[in-house]
Amino acid sequence: MQQFVFGGGHIVLPDRVAEDISIVIGDGRIEAILPHPPSPALPRVDLEGRWLVPGFVDLHVHGGGGADFMDGDVEAVLTACHAHLRHGTTTIFPTTTTGSPHRITAMLDACRKAIEQQQQNVLLGARMEGIHLYGPYFAPDKVGCHSTEGCRPPEAKEYLAYLASGMVKIATCAAELPGATEFYRQAAQAGCLVTCGHSNASWSEMELAYRAGLRHVDHFWCAMSSVASLRQRFGTPMQASMAEFVLATAEMSTEVIADGCHLAPELLRFAYQLIGPQRLCLVTDCNRALDQPPGQYRFGHFEDGTLLYSDGQVGWTSDRKSLASSVRGLDWMVRHMVSVVGIPLHDAVRMASLTPAQRSGIDHHVGSISIGKRADLVVLNKELQVEQVFLGGQLVFDSLQDRDYA
Ligand SMILES: [Zn+2]
Ligand SMILES: [Zn+2]
Repeated sequence: MQQFVFGGGHIVLPDRVAEDISIVIGDGRIEAILPHPPSPALPRVDLEGRWLVPGFVDLHVHGGGGADFMDGDVEAVLTACHAHLRHGTTTIFPTTTTGSPHRITAMLDACRKAIEQQQQNVLLGARMEGIHLYGPYFAPDKVGCHSTEGCRPPEAKEYLAYLASGMVKIATCAAELPGATEFYRQAAQAGCLVTCGHSNASWSEMELAYRAGLRHVDHFWCAMSSVASLRQRFGTPMQASMAEFVLATAEMSTEVIADGCHLAPELLRFAYQLIGPQRLCLVTDCNRALDQPPGQYRFGHFEDGTLLYSDGQVGWTSDRKSLASSVRGLDWMVRHMVSVVGIPLHDAVRMASLTPAQRSGIDHHVGSISIGKRADLVVLNKELQVEQVFLGGQLVFDSLQDRDYA
């Protein structure tokens, strides 16, 4: 690939926004960051005052563009990867739900085949770095919108097969379930980011889990324990919950669904201020209804997943009483954090790129505009909307030309 340069705009680095610098791309990577505008000798992409940000990394995402990763076929996987690419996500961790072992195995197989296709063709959507094994090890009182039938405590015979596939890079289990400690140990040994979600765990259960390798909590404030929920479980004295454990433990990270429907701005600001951009990730937790009209959809497999309703802003359970995941991309979450919550753009971008890359152990090659990393880059316009997406230095989506190169 020919060398070229980005310049003439605001370049979003992990700790600041830089002006009047240039980013040299060669061989699909970021070759140099120069402290001056690009020399006219090299072909260049003139940003014309727009923003250049690293491609986003989504740790928790179920689908998009009408497809759910649990549909279990290659076409569905690539459809969802492609839908999120248009929203600036260049690295994606397809996330399972509470399905039967058969369904989860089919999902892993479909993702493996889709990754092989992506290795041959860069135009096939956001790159998968691994799977987030998310359902089925949820606490029965915190299942949220997931199907309760598919929920179960972790059994080694089942999960060791998933871990042995080498596909699982993020692994969730509710800390209070029987067998959770062994699950955490095995997942940590397999190199996963180990996380607790859909759980009513107490501080002492979290401490045990932490010793077994737990380092992350899924969607903070959603389907997780609180002092009040633990009072119902244990009575008095009141006990600290997952929330206090994360706030008090520097090595723990977490994530928020910043779609404006799940959490009010003051909670997002609280998380940003008290947990901080180094250990707080933005995730979409998006279902298949991304970029689809309002209506009824299935969460999980298209035949027997739980019914959900999208009103075009967010997903609801079919009785419309509880939220059931988002219908937004990471670009929306970044805009919301900047324009409604009021945090600096470089911190919002960091929470959608470098921090999730670090937590999932892939920051040596993606997650920031740094020398040597893959040139997965997104051009945002002045309203922070996605205009162009580059994967490995190659233009793969251009909203101005309304052009998909897939
Ligand atoms: Zn969830
Ligand atoms: Zn989810």
